[in-house]
Amino acid sequence: MKPEHIYVTQPTLPPLEEFIPYLQEIWDNKILTNGGPFHQQLEQALCDYLGVKHLALFTNGTLALVTALQALRITGEVITTPYSFVATAHSLLWNGIKPVFVDIDPNTLNLDPDKIESAITPQTTAIMPVHCYGHPCDVARIQSIADNYGLKVIYDAAHAFGVQNQTGSILNHGDLAILSFHATKVFNTFEGGAIVCPDAKTKQRIDHLKNFGFVDEVTVVAPGINGKMSELNAAFGLLQLKGVDAAIVKRKAIDARYRQGLAGVNGIHCLADAGEQVANYSYFPILVQPDYPLSRDALYQKLKDNGIYARRYFYPLISDFPMYRGLPSAAQANLPVASKASNQVICLPIYPTLDVSDQEKIISLVARK
Ligand SMILES: *Cc1c(COP(=O)(O)O)cnc(C)c1O
Repeated sequence: MKPEHIYVTQPTLPPLEEFIPYLQEIWDNKILTNGGPFHQQLEQALCDYLGVKHLALFTNGTLALVTALQALRITGEVITTPYSFVATAHSLLWNGIKPVFVDIDPNTLNLDPDKIESAITPQTTAIMPVHCYGHPCDVARIQSIADNYGLKVIYDAAHAFGVQNQTGSILNHGDLAILSFHATKVFNTFEGGAIVCPDAKTKQRIDHLKNFGFVDEVTVVAPGINGKMSELNAAFGLLQLKGVDAAIVKRKAIDARYRQGLAGVNGIHCLADAGEQVANYSYFPILVQPDYPLSRDALYQKLKDNGIYARRYFYPLISDFPMYRGLPSAAQANLPVASKASNQVICLPIYPTLDVSDQEKIISLVARK
């Protein structure tokens, strides 16, 4: 059945009958969670697919972020971007860490490396950048700043499943990288997430932390959380992984069609394409600039009136939410680029089952044809 409205994304679901054998196996062996066989298989399958050494599955991306900060014993202040999903900064507050917002680069909308150094204080212990929309951060510059000041780097890579730059998987950069497998993401397990880490020792600490701190039946080494992914979600992930390449190919075609259809439309700016890098086409953001005849919100409303539920990602900025706006770094004057992008952005619908005819309708509405 075709939904009445076109949303910004629709989850990709494999045929239901293909999931039944996985369910049968769970029912037969009665292992529902606690690092069962599907959990182990999915960790290995994702390491192979993504080209990373170690990966720990989580119940969602937010708990993975919270646990990553615990794993590295991050305290004090952490430099991060205001232009992200709110969970990025919330993970800092859950650890009693003070977020320090730094402005973004106008071309990539990622944390601007030129502005990081002036935000470092004696309390700074880490940088938490986001590969926004799956576009890689300037990982080399960020790492060199971190090395100079002895800081850790934790990437919120929730948008960056499968993304590669010239050096291979973008997930291999930083001390840790976090993925989300939420229903709205390129690869989903209904709810889910992961921490990618470079060495077995860190992976072991993360595995303890996500299971209450248990090392064995009678030994608890840390005040851990319950962040474990269930067998149901892990089994679904294994099935989903089989279709992810085909899903990304479809997204790529949709991305190309938008770029072609919107090229030359006055006042509509599409973010730069992936170029040489391997992208995942997870979002299709446009910036509605002053020379467009409608305001951003008027275009957003016009799409909605036509049954197209685009989203203003990311608006409001994280720094404008009540629990952050009192921070000195949250002041708009400190974040002019992010404020502007946040007031101009609309993410257009992009998902593998989006029809050509529906996409033509969206393009016509935006291009005012
Ligand atoms: C989706 C998302 C998260 C949170 O992931 P959940 O799995 O929903 O908890 C964190 N950061 C960013 C940038 C996201 O897009």
